[in-house]
Amino acid sequence: MTRWHQTAPHDEGAAPVAQPWAGATTAHHPVALPTLDQAWARLAALDPAAYARTRNALDGAVSGLSPYITHGLLSLPQVLAGVHQHHPMAVQHKFVYELGWREFGRHVWAQQGAGIFRSLHPGPLPDEAYAPQLPPDIRQGCTGVPVVDRAVQALYATGHLHNHARMWLASYVVHVRKVHWRAGADWLYAHLLDGDLASNHLSWQWVAGTGSSKPYVFNAENVARFAPAAWHSEGSVIDTDYEALDRMARSPGAVVPAAALAPVLTEPALSSQPPDWLGARPPQAADVAGREVWLVHPWQLGALPADLPADTVVVGLWLADFHQAWPWSEARWRFVGTRLAELAGLHWWGDAEAVGRALAAARRVRSVAEPHLQPWLGQWAQALPAPRLFPRVERACTSFSQWWTRASKGFDSAADLLSQSQG
Ligand SMILES: Cc1cc2nc3c(=O)[nH]c(=O)nc-3n(C[C@H](O)[C@H](O)[C@H](O)COP(=O)(O)OP(=O)(O)OC[C@H]3O[C@@H](n4cnc5c(N)ncnc54)[C@H](O)[C@@H]3O)c2cc1C
Repeated sequence: MTRWHQTAPHDEGAAPVAQPWAGATTAHHPVALPTLDQAWARLAALDPAAYARTRNALDGAVSGLSPYITHGLLSLPQVLAGVHQHHPMAVQHKFVYELGWREFGRHVWAQQGAGIFRSLHPGPLPDEAYAPQLPPDIRQGCTGVPVVDRAVQALYATGHLHNHARMWLASYVVHVRKVHWRAGADWLYAHLLDGDLASNHLSWQWVAGTGSSKPYVFNAENVARFAPAAWHSEGSVIDTDYEALDRMARSPGAVVPAAALAPVLTEPALSSQPPDWLGARPPQAADVAGREVWLVHPWQLGALPADLPADTVVVGLWLADFHQAWPWSEARWRFVGTRLAELAGLHWWGDAEAVGRALAAARRVRSVAEPHLQPWLGQWAQALPAPRLFPRVERACTSFSQWWTRASKGFDSAADLLSQSQG
């Protein structure tokens, strides 16, 4: 991976793409600004009744909260409390249910560990039937299937995609083009502002049929119902009935575009290192010797705890071991870095060994637990439990419905659920 440089995606014939933090919008996805105020404003704007009615449409009343939730600017209990305060809801409300999907992903991750990066069970075809790489025409938004090309354009422009668009894109990649879900998942993760290894990789498995009972397929009629005209894909490979699409998903051999089209988009560059403007430096024992340390990491960007001792050094941690395995787009580095810079004056960029060596000089080190840093954080810091909305489900659940039945059992209103949540 290279250090990133400016390669703004372009779309011939379309308006130039604005940078996410410039406050621009695309037709359907207002871009995310990395501030707490913005997160709370989005929360305040949520109308759960409209959400339940319209959430499947690309211009539906979805929250746009995922970058803030992924990076810990808002916890799930804060989100639900914020909405419930103005719009009292039952636990079985569609919005609570969707929040549940995020926590279900954490449940599976805790049970499976690195197993979430492999097929959880056999899908419609053996793993070897799928290509290990994403083809250039998908990456460059020139498949000729409008729903796919528009989704890639929106992804690169905003770092966000509506849930339905993610499902369509993933389904096309896996079931039409016969690309392994893991290749698609790694690519999408890198470009999303809300990329979360559990939500993302398990959703790809759900679409692929390796984490669900059947492959998810969609057709042009479905797109026409939920997306604007520019996405409609009549006459394309997906303009057929569900039986034919299901057969396609279960048959080896990719359906490739008849003719190569000129590339429309340039994929934004990825980087495994923090941008220079963050001023991150190698971990040094002298920074923390004899001091109380609070480690802030990219998944914990809410307010600092109010009760930190006066001599606490707040260290922003950028762990090379993680970022070298999972590079991010420039937009994501900027989203996360801008907020982390507000929380910590000192930023460390180093590998686990260097971080551990430096922290050994501290009096005490604390942080908040986070599965993305699972193998490392606990070695150096007392990690406070991550916020949790639902009660812990001890039994390993393989489907959302199994988990939901247990996690929501005994709760009628969102207030009941909130009364036992943590964080
Ligand atoms: C292929 C694919 C990849 C995905 N990758 C990610 C990812 O990397 N990170 C991520 O946060 N979500 C991911 N999702 C889930 C979902 O698409 C996004 O959470 C949602 O689109 C975010 O938009 P929103 O905040 O407006 O969601 P809303 O519909 O307003 O939902 C509110 C919150 O609930 C949670 N949520 C809603 N739906 C889901 C879901 N299906 N799975 C998990 N959490 C959910 C999110 O935290 C979301 O912010 C993925 C889905 C698919 C199909």
